[in-house]
Amino acid sequence: MAINKIGVLGAGTMGQGIVQISAEAGFTVVLVDIAQNIVDAAMKRIDKTWQKAVEKGKITEDSKTQNLQKITAGTDMNMLKDCDVVIEAVLEEIDIKKAVFKQLDEICSAEAILATNTSALSITEIAASTKRSSKVLGMHFFNPVPAMKLVEVIPAADTTEEAVEIIMDLCKKIGKEPVKAKETPGFIVNRLLTPYMAEAMIAYQEGIASAEDIDKAMKYGAGMPMGPLALADMVGLDVCLKVGEYFLKEFGDSKYRPALALKQKVRAGHLGMKTGKGFYDYTKK
Ligand code: NAD
Repeated sequence: MAINKIGVLGAGTMGQGIVQISAEAGFTVVLVDIAQNIVDAAMKRIDKTWQKAVEKGKITEDSKTQNLQKITAGTDMNMLKDCDVVIEAVLEEIDIKKAVFKQLDEICSAEAILATNTSALSITEIAASTKRSSKVLGMHFFNPVPAMKLVEVIPAADTTEEAVEIIMDLCKKIGKEPVKAKETPGFIVNRLLTPYMAEAMIAYQEGIASAEDIDKAMKYGAGMPMGPLALADMVGLDVCLKVGEYFLKEFGDSKYRPALALKQKVRAGHLGMKTGKGFYDYTKK
């Protein structure tokens, strides 16, 4: 099955990035969100990104115009009806995802593949809200989408190998490196990163070293581009805690326990970069 038209549902952080790279790769793209002002704001940000690329001489004014012409954006989900693939990037709430997949199933052609960018929810549960569970799968992009090469492709219980292959191929066409992963909490990247960051927090809590020295050690001793505590502050400590608690519940293994230091920071409202304080104090920088 040839993919020509890509639908993106949700014009937030992830949706915008997916729209941008899909149009850059030459696909016709349809972007849908719930409110026109959200759609307009997303299109403005995409336009600004391409304008900057024009000013830096990375793309021509003509290719910017052509990219923009490939995108249709609005608030009516029926606009997605003749898309070959729809990538859902709405809020991380199971009830919202199940409701939009039910609608997409009714709107889209029987051949269309429906993908979710969920970070942690059950793809099988989302697929079960449709009558095409063989054509529903996970397509997990990373933030910021234009910069991060990886996409984790996750089949649900009934997904066909054919649908997986079509999406693996699409990932390559939009400039990404796909890897296939089983449907388990955190897939690959977050499965490894979550306990890594948690252990750094436990080391900090035990006073093994300061936050700066833990991060410095991992940067200069293990070649990490940034330290685990700075990374946690960037992700958001509330998000780290939520994921840690979810892992502990799903796996039932105490190795996934969130550090007390993390819980205390979240209780204090110190959620990392977004609130100005976390393992570091950003108000002083
Ligand atoms: P976001 O809050 O920036 O955007 C979500 C968008 O969905 C909003 O614009 C909202 O208006 C829209 N929306 C809500 N209900 C809708 C509906 N019924 N129909 C259409 N649009 C609707 O969220 P995000 O950070 O872009 O995350 C989107 C998804 O991607 C989530 O499942 C998240 O877990 C996942 N994800 C996020 C990241 C990240 O770092 N932000 C990374 C990987 C995966």
